[in-house]
Amino acid sequence: MADIIQLLPDHVANQIAAGEVVQRPASVVKELLENAIDAKASIITLVLKDAGKTLIQVTDNGVGMSTTDARLSFERHATSKIKVAEDLFKLHTKGFRGEALASIAAIAHVVLKTKEHDQEIGTKITVAGSKVVSQEPAVVPSGTTISVKNLFFNIPARRNFLKSNPVETRHIIDEFHRVALAHPNIAFTMTHNQDLVFNLPQSNVRQRIVNIFGNKTNEKLVPVSETTDILKIEGFVLKPDFAKKSRGQQFFFVNDRFIKSSYLNHAVNAAFEGLIKSGVHPGYFLFLEVDPQSIDINIHPTKTEIKFDDEHALYAMVRATVKHSLGQFSIAPILDFNRESTLDTPYNYANKPPISPTIDVDRSFNPFSAAPKQKNIDFPFKRDKNTTHWESLYVGLKDEESSATSYTQETHLTFESDEVTGSLFDEEDAVAGQLTFQLQNKYIISPIKSGMMIIHQHLAHQRVLYEELLKNITVHQAVSQQLLFPLEMNFSKPDMQVLQKIQEQLEHTGFVFETFGEDTLSVTGIPVALAESQASTVLEQLIQDIMDEVPDAGFSQNDLLVRSMAKSMAVKTGVALNSKEREHLVNQLFMCKEPSISPSNKPVIITLDANDLDKKFI
Ligand code: ADP
Ligand code: MG
Repeated sequence: MADIIQLLPDHVANQIAAGEVVQRPASVVKELLENAIDAKASIITLVLKDAGKTLIQVTDNGVGMSTTDARLSFERHATSKIKVAEDLFKLHTKGFRGEALASIAAIAHVVLKTKEHDQEIGTKITVAGSKVVSQEPAVVPSGTTISVKNLFFNIPARRNFLKSNPVETRHIIDEFHRVALAHPNIAFTMTHNQDLVFNLPQSNVRQRIVNIFGNKTNEKLVPVSETTDILKIEGFVLKPDFAKKSRGQQFFFVNDRFIKSSYLNHAVNAAFEGLIKSGVHPGYFLFLEVDPQSIDINIHPTKTEIKFDDEHALYAMVRATVKHSLGQFSIAPILDFNRESTLDTPYNYANKPPISPTIDVDRSFNPFSAAPKQKNIDFPFKRDKNTTHWESLYVGLKDEESSATSYTQETHLTFESDEVTGSLFDEEDAVAGQLTFQLQNKYIISPIKSGMMIIHQHLAHQRVLYEELLKNITVHQAVSQQLLFPLEMNFSKPDMQVLQKIQEQLEHTGFVFETFGEDTLSVTGIPVALAESQASTVLEQLIQDIMDEVPDAGFSQNDLLVRSMAKSMAVKTGVALNSKEREHLVNQLFMCKEPSISPSNKPVIITLDANDLDKKFI
């Protein structure tokens, strides 16, 4: 029998491959925009006619191509982005398969005009159905313009399969949003049938979101920011009130690439649990940065799904970080950490005298006071408006009933002064001493109805100080303690520069600086919660933390500063606390918005169920 296997001609192979890469005009838009970004463009324009069916044109001011490269770019597997397989694991570009231009040229009329910046003359190439129609030198601007006309001209079945113009336009806008959100530092415009649809100047993420989704969006955004060893998360979530029935505003970017991940989406939903009704979806714009080696973006041909090495850890972190931000947001509801002056919100906060944020805390609440018996206890650390759940934790401790009551009044007085003191308390053991115990000068143990809870003293105090300081720094209402004699401190020049950058924020926490020299600092006031002897340690630690983290301005800087200060000011492990100190700390902890996690997302409290104990005695 005669041999029957033949190699497919290139243009047929390209047409088949094109089916995978180009499903609709939006796929072409995505590929061309991504190529322009890979070419390091700072300005990209997209021009469309008839939802891209007649024309899709992308112009960039990127590096351009040499004549040879321009010709080669239409070959299949022609790419400048990877050379060997290992390169796949350290990708910093959008493209790498070298298929897009070849595929697009197989099913459309394509004109490429390109010029490198250091060349006088560029190149113009016309390709139709994979065949080069013409190639000539051309006087063109630096950068690249690719025009894709008459998509699927040679595959009528595919062309007929396209949806109506509004539907295809919607798909294009979706792609455009994803690319534009991931690259706020690039200016984009989009024109459709001569109408300017988007005009997005170079900006930051917040402005980009607002430019795309409208001015009202600004006040809905809650900043999210966290850095850990394996992951950096930045971005915004929409306040719970603005959760929507549709999933329109849900964006995950990993290393600036839009991805779909139902798993991470679930993590965000989990963080919103209890804050939104069922059936509505939270909005988010989250930018994750991970080591390129820890992801595999190659599992899906259109590359919107990726595989992470350590999905579980990512899940936990995304959830905790978003939850944390929502918690902070409710501490300071009218603050806008990254506020752009051009994006003024109706609050116009700047012209009003500072107002204390309202914190819904029941100041008379004392978890140690005896309370009427109650049966249902849900998760003990979810605070309710009425505090009976809390009090109910202590029900059943009959013996202490009388002493606990008398203690209530004392703690009540302490709350009135409402200050965090450096040395928690200095009184001798209090009456209600039986209610808490200290273990290894590290844990505070307290019996609760269902068993016992164990509180990490250092982390608990961190949480208390963190919320207090964050409040001060954001509403600029810190009280400072005047020092009798100014504290003189010496720092290296670079350290002083770090401090100078955050001088204003430090002042909002309660520091008062008399002089701010090149390498000396004279401090005349310090935050109330800070002991004088700790002042220089706190500043040194702060400098260290800032140098380690290199945060960007605004929100993350405040957060970092407050986290660092809370960490170095908090009572240390190994310090013995008397019962009054212990209880004061516990009370303050439970007045926090997020008592159960530390500012660095470690658990503060764990509970041991009596059932668990019972099991140990079998
Ligand atoms: P890939 O992006 O996967 O490398 P493409 O088919 O999209 O494959 O592009 C092929 C090559 O053409 C790219 O690797 C790049 O070198 C070049 N190229 C494509 N578009 C541009 C552009 N806008 N500016 C400069 N070079 C480009
Ligand atoms: Mg590409």
